[in-house]
Amino acid sequence: MIDIHAHIYPPTIPAGSIPPLLQRAKAAGVTSILSVSENLVDARHILRLAIQHTNFLFPCAGMHPAQPVRDPDGATVGYRSVVESDLEGFFEFMEENVGLDFTLPVLDSLHNACPPRAAAAAAAAATTGGASRDPSPPTTMTHDDIKTEQRKVFARQVRFAIQQDLPLNVHSRSAGHHAITLLEELGAKKVVLHAFDGQLKYVRKGLALGYYFSIPTSVVRTPQQQALAQEVPLELMLLESDTPCLGPERGVSNVPSNLSFAAHEIARIKNVDLETVPETMSRLYAKGRVLGFKRAKRNQRPDISLIQIEGVKTAADTDFYLGKRIAFVYRAKREVNGSKIRCIWGRITRTHGGSGAVKARFRNNLPAKSFGASVRIMMYPSRV
Ligand SMILES: [Zn+2]
Repeated sequence: MIDIHAHIYPPTIPAGSIPPLLQRAKAAGVTSILSVSENLVDARHILRLAIQHTNFLFPCAGMHPAQPVRDPDGATVGYRSVVESDLEGFFEFMEENVGLDFTLPVLDSLHNACPPRAAAAAAAAATTGGASRDPSPPTTMTHDDIKTEQRKVFARQVRFAIQQDLPLNVHSRSAGHHAITLLEELGAKKVVLHAFDGQLKYVRKGLALGYYFSIPTSVVRTPQQQALAQEVPLELMLLESDTPCLGPERGVSNVPSNLSFAAHEIARIKNVDLETVPETMSRLYAKGRVLGFKRAKRNQRPDISLIQIEGVKTAADTDFYLGKRIAFVYRAKREVNGSKIRCIWGRITRTHGGSGAVKARFRNNLPAKSFGASVRIMMYPSRV
């Protein structure tokens, strides 16, 4: 199991608690964890931890839309909305986890704490003899102003990720459709929407764009997350703990080892074996089997093959796979460029019959020996 979204860094998790927490996660079958930053300070901590725990803890750097407000001892006392000046110096570091947060506590609390950089900039403007005009006076910002600011921060990170060909780990609390619309407008392709709380129609929009959704451990107690798990096909579903939040028990600090509770709940919702859940989620393709060539009355069509997709049993279920790329991978006798592995690419073109089979057109005709062999149906590119 992979924990696609956890906040593992001090002071969110005390430094001394991190090694035992990771040890427990390993013992519970977690194979890797993405630790997601809220800002540059966290990102630096995470990078250090990722070096200490190579191949287990992976860094995911990004500017969270809700920024912690800390007291002089470093303890988090609240949250405020991100503003564009928070991004200063961040892009060297930027990789993932970006988003929008339009929940009222976050929008309301901007005036509680003038962001340090904006305050510094305001102070600098005042001391360099400029007009004593605060460039972003926090107390006079309306909710709409703050949303605009969040959109700017989000869009800059999305553009950066596209430019660097990095996947995006997106937080979109109370802003699901805003986030998806913006991601689509900007042309983002590699996206996971974490703990998505938007309406199902926006979930469907995200799925049509080929976006992943990660289901948090709170799925065991939250009807909204259960509905989300129902809607998202396993192929586009990922697991997350969102440590230390969104645990299986309300109010109890969460840990990645709780992922198995979510896997159990998803297996129940999807009516599949428990093993299917983490297995499907750790690969980027579904498996299929070649049934044979398409047959017309007299002759067969070797350019079109009939494929049965694993776990797909009705014509309606094939809908999700139409247009997806498909690969027949085989081993040849002769080495080309140092490899005997060959691949014939194709595309799923239409549904075949009523029991979940599809037609696929391949660039080259599949060899007759492919009958009964397995193929990979890739989860990208998206159909739209
Ligand atoms: Zn988070």
